[in-house]
Amino acid sequence: MSSAPTVDTTRIAPQTGAYVHLAPGDVLTVVDPTGVQVSDLFCVSTDDVAEVLSSGRSIDFENTVRFTTGRRLWSNRSRPMLTIVEDTCRSHDFLLTPCSQQTFDILYPDFGGAPHPSCFANLVEALAPHGVDPDRIGTTFNTFMNVWADESGELHIDAPQSVAGDRFSVRAEMDLHVAITACSAEKSNGGTCKPIDYSVVRKG
Ligand SMILES: [Zn+2]
Repeated sequence: MSSAPTVDTTRIAPQTGAYVHLAPGDVLTVVDPTGVQVSDLFCVSTDDVAEVLSSGRSIDFENTVRFTTGRRLWSNRSRPMLTIVEDTCRSHDFLLTPCSQQTFDILYPDFGGAPHPSCFANLVEALAPHGVDPDRIGTTFNTFMNVWADESGELHIDAPQSVAGDRFSVRAEMDLHVAITACSAEKSNGGTCKPIDYSVVRKG
């Protein structure tokens, strides 16, 4: 009798992040364990960390802003970095940058300029040991983030539509440094920041 290989799941604590190395063919799965929680993703090529995830190229080549199974996420050098291979939520954002200290200072003045955890800081921390300059970290793929435009073009951020156990999987198309977060912005996460789980199935 054969059984499926055990896949270890790692939990990202609320308002923190994690680093993952992916070789070509490896599959990274991001799971929302409780529901209503965003996870930002950013990646760069290990061959040259100046080759980075590009929202603009991805929107160009995929001709959509609704990324789901079968869609690819492209680099600034117009090469596929990741292919989405599973998506049980089908509601994500690829328009907005990761929340940062300035996000809270400028958009959410209720915080009074106090230090606040952020996806940007967590991505910087995860990628800096691999030679990634903070200025290279642009628009993130915001898994489970619920952003929509009304008829005037104004953007709205609502609570994520993800429910407990929703899964989002990407297959690496090149060797990658990847950083993912459990988003720190209360407003993007239905008012409370919760954990994110992830696992990797190695091709080799
Ligand atoms: Zn965030």
